[in-house]
Amino acid sequence: MCGIFAYTGQNGKDAAKVLLDGLVSLEYRGYDSAGIFTPESGVIKTPGAVAELRKRVPKKYSGKSGIAHLRWATHGEPTKVNAHPHGSGAIWLVHNGIIENFKELKKKLVTKGHAFVSDSDTEILAHLIEEHLKRERSFEKATLKALKEVRGTYGVAIQYKGEPEKLIAARMGSPIVLGIGKGEHFIASDPSPILKHTKKVLFLNDGEVAVLTPKSHTVYKLSKEIVHRMPEELDWSAEEAQKGGYEHFMLKEIMEAPEVVVNTLRGRLIPEKGMAKLGGLEAVAKELANIERIIIVACGTAYYAGLIGEYMLEEFAGIPVEVELGSEFRYRSPVLNQRTAVIAISQSGETLDTLEAVREGKRKGALTLGIVNAVGSTIARETDAGVYNHAGPEIGVASTKAFVSQLIALALFTIFLGRQREMSVKTGREIAKELKALPKKLEKVLAGRKEFEKFAKKYKNARDFLFIGRKYNNPVAFEGALKLKEISYIHAEGYGAGEMKHGPIAMIDKDFPTFAIATKDSVYEKNVSNIHELKARKGPVIVLATEGDKEIAKLADDVVYVPKTLEMLSPILNVVPLQLFAYYFAKGKGLNPDRPRNLAKSVTVE
Ligand code: GLU
Repeated sequence: MCGIFAYTGQNGKDAAKVLLDGLVSLEYRGYDSAGIFTPESGVIKTPGAVAELRKRVPKKYSGKSGIAHLRWATHGEPTKVNAHPHGSGAIWLVHNGIIENFKELKKKLVTKGHAFVSDSDTEILAHLIEEHLKRERSFEKATLKALKEVRGTYGVAIQYKGEPEKLIAARMGSPIVLGIGKGEHFIASDPSPILKHTKKVLFLNDGEVAVLTPKSHTVYKLSKEIVHRMPEELDWSAEEAQKGGYEHFMLKEIMEAPEVVVNTLRGRLIPEKGMAKLGGLEAVAKELANIERIIIVACGTAYYAGLIGEYMLEEFAGIPVEVELGSEFRYRSPVLNQRTAVIAISQSGETLDTLEAVREGKRKGALTLGIVNAVGSTIARETDAGVYNHAGPEIGVASTKAFVSQLIALALFTIFLGRQREMSVKTGREIAKELKALPKKLEKVLAGRKEFEKFAKKYKNARDFLFIGRKYNNPVAFEGALKLKEISYIHAEGYGAGEMKHGPIAMIDKDFPTFAIATKDSVYEKNVSNIHELKARKGPVIVLATEGDKEIAKLADDVVYVPKTLEMLSPILNVVPLQLFAYYFAKGKGLNPDRPRNLAKSVTVE
């Protein structure tokens, strides 16, 4: 995700101070490493966040302008050399996003004599601009040329030592906002560091580039056409700005689901071949082709993602899969061999129980893999290979967008392993096509979020809640119950719909509501029968159904509709209403969903 902040002014303010103070409010966007550059004093970078950077910035360090960055690594570990700003000659820049074609561009530039120092994708852009600068002799023109050559996403702030007062900002997929002050201008990832200097801001759109000096600001399109757009007055507090105008990080993160799907998929699908290209697995592709069994280890929400992964992998890749809680696996005596792959799923990559399970797997000779969000985390480092989620930092303690990205990574993994085995091109293509269609469908689900406020009111007196689902959506029911427990402290249970009659249905009466997942899939009719059984006991039922299913509305007390997708991908759409339900429920009870009692974000104890 990364935080960008840049400043140019002529009011005698010290850019270094402005930048260091402002970075603090962007810390939620990244804290792997921090860095600053001013043309007068040069570059300073360090692993860690703003406090670490401050320790390394000498008293005399200053400037009239400068750029600064907080990194959430995507390419290259969170080390000092990989930290931003990245430079080449007189060009320095900070970046948020991913340059997808950095490897091919790097090759070309190396033949032209460029020497690279980092593993990051970002460094390439500095070299590319410098290369164009040799011919163009204009900072603006060189930047435009370079931006047209890169593929992927960027929010950037760029500086050229030859014109130290000038800053260039550009946006493609990653947010950039300009702060328009008197005799000073700012560039940032969100308005939070700008607001104490000026309330006047201008949000860049994709494909726009801005050239700023202390006195002027001009916005262009990549085609060089000038954009005439007036700045807006922003009446947000710094905290509101961090949350993108949402009341809580949890809601902001639920709303990020479509973007997260795009980011996890980026550059990883070859739709026409029905294949997945997973760079992180290339080195072990041969071993993976010979794997006979997979054990997924994880905890909490990631464990439920693993259960869904089990169904995907067995149905489409034909490999036997077991899913184990990290905390159990390490204490029993699992039977493993070299033909077993142990896959750890962890958002933070630091979950101790999961990490120890990986170590146990290693000791017993298994191939170990990670599906991890935090680049360079312990699990990412200790596993033999893996897939990064690229979901950006998750601040809300209750995991939401990370779960969505884990499911996408598992679907990619399924295509990868499946196509090494029996999966046909046709099936591969179908899954790839539907994966690409998910962001639009998620947007539709999210657009109906206000409905959930209503439900939260209607069911506010419920002391217990049941969540049921079958097959791919059985673990989604577990996750729905976990979300409600975590943030509203309501007793909730997730059950396989078919299991109700084996015990839990005894609890059902008019005061015990159920959230039933009954989207149109291969077990739809079975689910409908189970809903009938609940209604026969007077239990109130909210049903999660597929758009157009009018019949179910006759049976249910309330219905929430989601668009149709492939059965194996349905959990990705179906979990979002359950996340929203839990969120509004907690909010309705006056609780802060971002800070649930007794819980920590990353569980690094046993
Ligand atoms: N790809 C860049 C890096 O790894 C920026 C990361 C990001 O914005 O998430 O340094």
